[in-house]
Amino acid sequence: MNNDRANTRVNKVLLIYTGGTIGMGRNVQTGALEPLNFEHLIANLPEFAYLQTDIDTYQFTPPIDSSDMSLRRWAQLVRIIADNYDSYDGFVILHGTDTMAYTASALSFMLENLTKPVILTGSQLPIGQLRTDGKENLVTSIELASACDEEGHPMVPEVCIYFSGKLIRGNRSTKENADGFNAFNSFNYPLLCDAGIEFNFHPHYILKPDYSRPMIPHTALDPNVVVFSLFPGIQQNVVRHFLDVPDLRGIVLRSYGSGNAPQKPWLIRLLKEATMRGVTIVNISQCVAGSVKMGRYEASFHLKEAGVVSGYDSTVESAVTKLMFLQAKYKDCHTIRSLMDRSICGEITRG
Ligand code: ASP
Repeated sequence: MNNDRANTRVNKVLLIYTGGTIGMGRNVQTGALEPLNFEHLIANLPEFAYLQTDIDTYQFTPPIDSSDMSLRRWAQLVRIIADNYDSYDGFVILHGTDTMAYTASALSFMLENLTKPVILTGSQLPIGQLRTDGKENLVTSIELASACDEEGHPMVPEVCIYFSGKLIRGNRSTKENADGFNAFNSFNYPLLCDAGIEFNFHPHYILKPDYSRPMIPHTALDPNVVVFSLFPGIQQNVVRHFLDVPDLRGIVLRSYGSGNAPQKPWLIRLLKEATMRGVTIVNISQCVAGSVKMGRYEASFHLKEAGVVSGYDSTVESAVTKLMFLQAKYKDCHTIRSLMDRSICGEITRG
């Protein structure tokens, strides 16, 4: 749908700079890119003055490469947004691309009943470089974060990633390209907006929050989660080693195709022992597109019998952070498993 009615009236956006390539410069000694401070970024963006949005800024000190993103920093982001929630119409988070999809997924669970846009963006080339993609990504993200409908409601009241013309639901996003400008994709959910010459919002796919309810920030996450991928020839001692990790409460099992695993009795036995101990094992596919369908083949039927739950069409980033979120909130594995089976904020489509 071409939504001309989406107007971009003068709104207030809080721009949170965490780091990432967008604000990096080259270290003259090592030649490596390293995060610079925010003044550098702003100095390279005279376009700021033309934006029809009031912008305040908050900067992580020091700014980080997103490879250093952590649960503590996700909680920090949640606190910044919660503390400033009533003063701004939207939030833009400048973030390195490497772990942006994890942060977007985590925030989608941690900001319960979000009614304002939280848009993450970054760039593949630093903003100071001639061919940078950072300017367009930043300027468009600010416009998207302040775009409202005729009733004054935000066009996209959810956690999203904006990158290279695409607005993607945060917990459906994956970094797919380490080199190209087109770094992110959403393989199992349509785009929320195509940003070409004009914004082409797709309201049908955008979450509709209950504006009468307050936003509830959550800062607790449980990191006792592991991701492991199956591969032909995987050894029993390797799997046992993973499952024996002390305090482990959640496993994201990356299986084949529509959720299949080798039908080896030792594998099923080990998985069953873990689920009986209260570990939640979530089955997602190694394929980027499509969904797990447990029981479709005999090769996944046994997983079901072992107590493994379906992750449907979840991304790995979303499955990991959802487990961290639910494990911090609930002690009981049955509650966690039943919530893994439901969509909390649009992260899965149940087949
Ligand atoms: N290593 C950088 C980061 O994630 C890459 C980037 O920003 O694109 O912080």
